[in-house]
Amino acid sequence: MARYTDAVCKLCRREGEKLFLKGERCFTPKCAFEKRGYPPGMHGRFGRRRPGRESDYSRQLRAKQKARRIYGILERQFRRYFHLAQKRRGLTGFNLLQILESRLDNVVYRLGFGVSRSQARLIVTHGHIIVNGRKLDVPSALVKPDDVVMVKEGSRENGYFSGLKEVAESRTVPTWLERDLNNFSGRVLRLPERAEIDGALNEQLIVEYYSR
Ligand code: SF4
Repeated sequence: MARYTDAVCKLCRREGEKLFLKGERCFTPKCAFEKRGYPPGMHGRFGRRRPGRESDYSRQLRAKQKARRIYGILERQFRRYFHLAQKRRGLTGFNLLQILESRLDNVVYRLGFGVSRSQARLIVTHGHIIVNGRKLDVPSALVKPDDVVMVKEGSRENGYFSGLKEVAESRTVPTWLERDLNNFSGRVLRLPERAEIDGALNEQLIVEYYSR
């Protein structure tokens, strides 16, 4: 199961905006983008890129990379999701966003059981998550309406989860999910509407990128 292993703050700096990949740290002055809000690399700070003169291709590429990086997915998997979205009925771009949102690691993150998607991914791969009564340690698994996602009973005692309640309470759960913090569980009520997904994502540009 391949994943990105380099410093994630570079990704924010490369995209020119905060992607909030590190949980709480993103909201503190320690955020690398706050300190060095220019692209990484030796030409990053004094490079010749002029945002106003971006080509269509560049805008499409950046939109795709941004979505990929927010959800922590490598290119091959992202392209696979795009083809899956094409096969579904309706708008391909919206289908793609729905698929990304319904990944198990994203749902664990949205329920507040992980402070970031990468942490949620670890929680899943380490076998702490049960879906519909069965252990599921595949972060890319796609959930469906009525699926019940919960933290394994034996895991609730460990240090991380015992301190989780307070942190999770401060997080808002999207309306397409229902959370029961007392039981460390959540239910997928339905798949999200467009307005419930990150508005900064531009699915139209992503579709254009893959349709070239
Ligand atoms: Fe991005 Fe968060 Fe790193 Fe800031 S701390 S650069 S928002 S990942």
